[in-house]
Amino acid sequence: MSRAKLIYINIDGFSYSYLDLLRRMGRSAELDELISEALLLENLSSGLISITNPMQGAILAGAWSDRTQNIYQHYDPDSGEVVKHRRTLAAENVGQLFHRHGDTVVSIHQFMLAGNPCEYGDKNATYVTVPRQPSNAFDRLQLLEDLLRRNTVLSGETSITYPELPDFIAVYIDDIDSLGHNNDYENYPRRRLFAERQLDIAERLQLILRRILELYRLSRSGKDGARIIWLITTDHGMTPFYGKSSLPLLIKELDAAGLTCRLPEERCAGTLLVALPYTIELALYPTRALTAEESRRIMAICAAQPYVRKVFTRQEMLTEYHMDPRGPEFLLCPTYGEHFYKRDAEPGFFAASHDSCDATSQHIFGLLLGDQVRKGTFQAPVSAIDLMPTILKHAFDYTLSDSVGKVFEGFFC
Ligand SMILES: [Zn+2]
Repeated sequence: MSRAKLIYINIDGFSYSYLDLLRRMGRSAELDELISEALLLENLSSGLISITNPMQGAILAGAWSDRTQNIYQHYDPDSGEVVKHRRTLAAENVGQLFHRHGDTVVSIHQFMLAGNPCEYGDKNATYVTVPRQPSNAFDRLQLLEDLLRRNTVLSGETSITYPELPDFIAVYIDDIDSLGHNNDYENYPRRRLFAERQLDIAERLQLILRRILELYRLSRSGKDGARIIWLITTDHGMTPFYGKSSLPLLIKELDAAGLTCRLPEERCAGTLLVALPYTIELALYPTRALTAEESRRIMAICAAQPYVRKVFTRQEMLTEYHMDPRGPEFLLCPTYGEHFYKRDAEPGFFAASHDSCDATSQHIFGLLLGDQVRKGTFQAPVSAIDLMPTILKHAFDYTLSDSVGKVFEGFFC
């Protein structure tokens, strides 16, 4: 048989908990149909830090932030600046890998591949976006349908037709993430209650999965059907939070112990710790080397607060999570429902984000489809960075240059 093709769809913010949600709401027919033909990864996890760009990059590189150099942001104690990492992806990504082997690569809104290697108008590594902005899942999946049907697609100003299906197609979809964050999104207004938003998510997710199922069926009827491997996964889940931020409380406790803690913009001569909130989690950066006693006291104070669920130490983050060494000394994850955001959640409205160690953010959706793929469930713990290395090795005999992800046996027949 001729060689494989890979279609990678990332549905941003697809918490594994949404499987249950869809089933409870009676909206799981398409999901269950996909699963019946797939290998479902039952224990797939996101990483540290579970924020979109770092995790999108980590998946594409099969590597953590010590190699991708993206943890969203860090505080530089020397310059006093907060450095944003934006679309940094310092490790080789899947698009570059295919491109290096002379294969055709198309990115549909997968922004981490934009310019890296995909460009508008480059037929070998092309970036394709919906002309109308903003665009949703259905617009983007239409572009995938166009590729499957060999219709002409518009890449920037250039019309491109692929007589053969591109070897690697990445599609990025963000409807579910936007809804998950409780943003005003299309015909869905921001909701007061988490339960109301769950209905919106279930409705949209069902429609997206219905469309993916249609395209999967379409591909099966075409000549490439048997060659295509589909990876449908996500970067992180979503965790709700409510009410007042715990940030001022924590700063007060540290200050009271003489361990002066300030936000970056409020740093002064006596500041020992700079507090850099993400959304739910909080990073602490020392302004100078801490003594062992200072470290012990900071740890003890943070861990003793009722709203703190877990304190990650630098050592743990470096060795167990392979974090970029520019990252914090301590990372605090609050208990479910609490948060360290710079503002309080608006009274009467829930908020949500995904930089959390809670399972709702960490346990993520992932499945594989295709003739070569083993059907059923894969129960062993799999990390998001293991997906690409495993698929690339088994289906293409390719290896990402900087990858540290595991190559699993048992994904393929
Ligand atoms: Zn995301």
